[in-house]
Amino acid sequence: MTYQHISYELKNDFIWIGLGLNEKKSMTTLTRDSLDELSKIMVEVTEIDKKKGAKGLFFFSHKPGVFLAGMDITVINDLKNEADALRNLEVAHKLFNSIEDLKMPTASLVNGICLGGGLELSLCCKKIFVSDHPKTALGLPEVMLGVLPGFGGTYRLPKKVGLPPALDMILTGKQIKGKNAYKMGLADAILPAERMLELAPQYLNKPKKKTNLKEELEKAAMENFLTRKIIFQKAREQVMKNTKGFYPAPLKILEVLEKGANKNRSDYLAMEAQAFAELSQTIQSKNLQHIFFLTDNSKKLDNKDQLPSVNRGAVLGAGVMGGGIAWLFAQNNQAPLMKDITPAALELGLKQASANFAGALKRKRMTEDEFNRKMRSIEPTLTLEGMKSADLVVEAVVENMDLKKKVFAELEEYVRPDCLLTSNTSSLSVEEMSKALKNSGRFAGLHFFNPVNKMPLVEIITHEKVDPKTIQTLVKWVLDVKKTPIVVKDGPGFLVNRILAPYLNEAAFLLEEGVSVEALDEAALNFGMPMGPCRLMDEIGLDVCVKVGKIMQEGLGQRANPSSLSTKLYDAKLLGKKNNKGFYLYDEKGKSTGKNPEISKIITSKKKHMDEMTIQMRLFLPMVNEAAYILADKICDKAATVDVGMIYGTGFPPFKGGLLKWADQEGLDSIVERLNNFAKDVNKDRYQVSPFLSLMVSDKRKFYDL
Ligand code: NAD
Repeated sequence: MTYQHISYELKNDFIWIGLGLNEKKSMTTLTRDSLDELSKIMVEVTEIDKKKGAKGLFFFSHKPGVFLAGMDITVINDLKNEADALRNLEVAHKLFNSIEDLKMPTASLVNGICLGGGLELSLCCKKIFVSDHPKTALGLPEVMLGVLPGFGGTYRLPKKVGLPPALDMILTGKQIKGKNAYKMGLADAILPAERMLELAPQYLNKPKKKTNLKEELEKAAMENFLTRKIIFQKAREQVMKNTKGFYPAPLKILEVLEKGANKNRSDYLAMEAQAFAELSQTIQSKNLQHIFFLTDNSKKLDNKDQLPSVNRGAVLGAGVMGGGIAWLFAQNNQAPLMKDITPAALELGLKQASANFAGALKRKRMTEDEFNRKMRSIEPTLTLEGMKSADLVVEAVVENMDLKKKVFAELEEYVRPDCLLTSNTSSLSVEEMSKALKNSGRFAGLHFFNPVNKMPLVEIITHEKVDPKTIQTLVKWVLDVKKTPIVVKDGPGFLVNRILAPYLNEAAFLLEEGVSVEALDEAALNFGMPMGPCRLMDEIGLDVCVKVGKIMQEGLGQRANPSSLSTKLYDAKLLGKKNNKGFYLYDEKGKSTGKNPEISKIITSKKKHMDEMTIQMRLFLPMVNEAAYILADKICDKAATVDVGMIYGTGFPPFKGGLLKWADQEGLDSIVERLNNFAKDVNKDRYQVSPFLSLMVSDKRKFYDL
């Protein structure tokens, strides 16, 4: 019998079920159709099993590098309500149980990515064999979408690997590489990828890996009521520490696993399904699904294969950013040149790159050999001579227009005509800078965030004469180095810093009005931000804040009038983390040691209590307003770009779906009303509603309708 998505045959006494048949997408996912086909196949297989008509069964994939990437997220997204979710899960449970209930030996041959429903299906087999393919990785990432594994994953995984490792996987969504899966007992054998199907029958009836006495004792202890109680208590504490309770899924996962301890399969699965159904309808899950689609779309590039790749990078300036960008090139095997004007500066750049690799080395994500090889691939230089070998140059010298223009004019004499030239400027006009070049079509802004190794976003900045192919090639490169690109038009602060500016400025005004540093940072944290605005200003540096404040005012006018507080702090040499004192104090290692008492000498206003909601609205509504200006100015063309930028560039809380998704959910009419009230009561320039936002309200449109 032939199917569309799944192959099925009985060959040499074994049943072979092949996933990802005719799959054109890069990832194979479970769809309603493929589940339907598999259900039909399993009816036949069950009959064969009853008659003892086969020696065993294997699931494999037709696509090397992908076993099964889980349920298609559009299916989860389309679930209408809890009852709809429960109906769908019931069908899937029947199918998955039928696999688990087969009497014959069964194994899942995992050659590549095996996530979510893919792993849950594999867990229904008596054995899991993994391949040595570098992409082989297993995980249950459902928590990242605000749900739990609903096909029995929370029931079967602890039975296979024990409670603590299962909790770790289910609560974090982490992926386990093939070798580690074998080590932890998730996989029963590792086979060479190219001979996996041939060798699998020999391994099917091999006795399982013996557990040693220590493992046996540990497993027994886990069954103990008291031990389990402690494990759940600790896990709950950790979840609260990591999520501050903003995400319901991890807490629900713990509840299901804890309550399910002595339940039989059908009772347990009914409870798991109910929890999934409830979670799938929460606003947090809907917002996380929304972010999944936003991120996925931002990674789409139609003509990717026709665009050139970067084999060798180069960076000008070996400072904080230059060292980080050199690391990124080296990390991606693009052996960079790193140019600066003094040997001491080059030394610092190498130190920065080495520090970025140190984490991976410590966590054994790379070997000492790899580390040495990658570090050696960075070529420090004091001249531009070698630049003809570069495919992409990123300029990261000090922030000065005249210097940057001079550097580019000089550089152009050394590079090949097809080499792309970019600037990491955070505040200067890319349009103006492009004028320094004879061929400005190959030039664009490429704005990284600090620290380069941790921040996923890169803004690609266009200008009037840029060649569209330059932008596409940069998008491809950013994706190749596993970062998230957004393409934006030139303008003060580009996108992220322009929206962040009113937030930080408003924080400074609130402090001047007498709101305390703690109240302010606490309000932002309770909104879901990764850090409060005072901490963020310390991270950025008060000198940079003053500079950016001026640029915003020059570029945007009165609504960006900066508070005088950052200048006062700058004058008092309270620069933040870079000199160990700002709003907070820091030790030599940069660890915060508490509040800086000097702040109360600079902010002398009478202490003022303000309710948290008002503080939050004062901080976040000007950001929404500025985003509306950005859309009106065509800095970017859609709300999704703003939200990708704010989530990946500032850590805007993912459970809120992004700044503009949040604004849409709050209601634009209510946002405008509150902005108008602040304009009346606080400051008319800073809170004046953008004409574009007003227009949207009068047209009854939302940001995501644009
Ligand atoms: P930095 O002061 O740490 O480093 C600048 C380096 O450029 C120094 O090592 C200096 O010796 C070198 N340099 C000066 N003239 C040079 C020349 N002619 N040729 C080669 N090297 C030269 O500065 P940084 O913080 O790394 O910033 C660099 C650029 O990145 C700036 O444009 C800045 O706006 C931008 N940026 C900085 C951050 C940040 O957080 N630091 C974030 C995003 C973008």
